[in-house]
Amino acid sequence: MRHVVVLGSGAAGLAAALGAARAGAEVTLAYPGEGIDASPGSTQLAQGGIAAALGPGDSPEAHALDTVAAGAGLVDKRAAEHLARRGAGEVEALLAAGFPADPGLSLEAAHRVARIVHAGGDRTGAALHRFLAGRVLEEPRIRHAPGTRLRSLVLRDGTVAGLDTADGTRLTGDAVVLATGGYCGVYPRSTGAPGAIGTGIVAAARAGALLADMEFVQFHPTVLEGTGHLISEAVRGAGAHLVDGEGRRFLFDTDPRGELAPRDVVSAGVCRALDAGPVWLDARHVPDLPGAFPGITARLAEAGIDWTRQLVPVAPAAHYSMGGVVTDLSGRTTLPGLYAVGEVARTGVRGANRLASNSLLEALVFGAAAGEASASAGEWVAPAVSGEFLDVALPGPGPDGDARDAIAAGLGVERTGEGIVRTLAALDGPGGDAASIGRLMAAAAQSRTESRGAHRRLDHPDTDPAQARPILLRATEGVTTC
Ligand SMILES: Cc1cc2nc3c(=O)[nH]c(=O)nc-3n(C[C@H](O)[C@H](O)[C@H](O)COP(=O)(O)OP(=O)(O)OC[C@H]3O[C@@H](n4cnc5c(N)ncnc54)[C@H](O)[C@@H]3O)c2cc1C
Repeated sequence: MRHVVVLGSGAAGLAAALGAARAGAEVTLAYPGEGIDASPGSTQLAQGGIAAALGPGDSPEAHALDTVAAGAGLVDKRAAEHLARRGAGEVEALLAAGFPADPGLSLEAAHRVARIVHAGGDRTGAALHRFLAGRVLEEPRIRHAPGTRLRSLVLRDGTVAGLDTADGTRLTGDAVVLATGGYCGVYPRSTGAPGAIGTGIVAAARAGALLADMEFVQFHPTVLEGTGHLISEAVRGAGAHLVDGEGRRFLFDTDPRGELAPRDVVSAGVCRALDAGPVWLDARHVPDLPGAFPGITARLAEAGIDWTRQLVPVAPAAHYSMGGVVTDLSGRTTLPGLYAVGEVARTGVRGANRLASNSLLEALVFGAAAGEASASAGEWVAPAVSGEFLDVALPGPGPDGDARDAIAAGLGVERTGEGIVRTLAALDGPGGDAASIGRLMAAAAQSRTESRGAHRRLDHPDTDPAQARPILLRATEGVTTC
């Protein structure tokens, strides 16, 4: 019987563990806290929902087309079709198994029809996590390894055969599934879990795995100023306005869609307005805020804000990382024995800007597929890749230096070549995972001399069709040899 080690207990890790166990493997599910619930990730924070082509007038083909359009020329069409097709089946199975979804499907920006399944109003991620964790706890083939924090991957004859933990223990298996989440936590302000600093991506790169799309980070425009508390797009969809200190809806200065323009357009507009003074979300006129958005209402109340009567100060913050470890449709990486799923992976479905509400779906679809694939032995066929290759020297492992401010300064919604060079120079000293992620992001961002997807290059404001190809990254110095 094959033994599969799954690292991370967000939606992707739980789906992978279930997939591997059902395919007959013996599974060790490892996570950093004392229990699944005590291992925070972005899954539990997700508000909006899970996209799936289930409604009348919808189809997996239409969902795939929307995914491709959002990704600004860098989505792998085959991966988007796979996500949409298998995703509809996964979500149908979830509903049939009793997932407590709210009635009806919602419409979200950049989706052509209503296709968002949600639960608990704005608490879909927490509901999904609870549901999957319950199923994992009932599965006798899944053993638990709490208190596991990844340090490095273990290679035997060029194949990943386990992982070493931060406290000096080793977990071994026939395959390892990385599900450690993304890297938005390398920014000083992020909506994600604080530990999401790309540790899994750095470990995979050090072991020799190929990465891609690391320059792309999605910034959410409406995050409570000074915190990482997200105020969902659905609030603007329900009619809330963004105003400056004089109460003016400034977004119409640059885009006729105003508050309902795509996330990157609104984020850039808010950034510019912040140069002149605070920016406010005005939702006072939106009916039944506590009923429609119970989670956000509670968070704001904790911060002393009653948004039925008060304006909410907001600013953009890093929200979702598009780049990661390159995989195929089964989560196989370029490194034999290593699978990657969820936000840690780069499957090809996000391109330069992921479609909102596709990420929980991606975790379910690719998690289950990687679990199933890891349960069977067979020849390792690495994912086919093409694009521009860059070699990046990673600083050695070590305590996290003060990389965050340098990353925010040069790799924000609006960037310049000079700023990126300054960030690279500032990241020359510090070691650790955040600095390594910063170097990978900055190297790719420097090479992409155009504006595409989630961010703008002020010195290259146009999109250059000749650069519609991924930037693939290999780590050089700092690579582990075992
Ligand atoms: C505020 C917010 C709202 C969102 N809303 C939506 C939405 O409505 N719809 C949608 O589709 N997507 C949404 N997203 C994105 C989505 O939630 C994530 O992309 C998705 O949940 C990622 O799942 P994951 O399993 O890959 O990672 P995570 O859920 O982040 O889980 C990572 C796991 O790895 C563990 N881990 C991390 N580092 C280590 C380490 N070094 N060693 C061991 N374990 C480690 C963590 O403890 C955790 O268990 C949202 C994200 C945020 C932040």
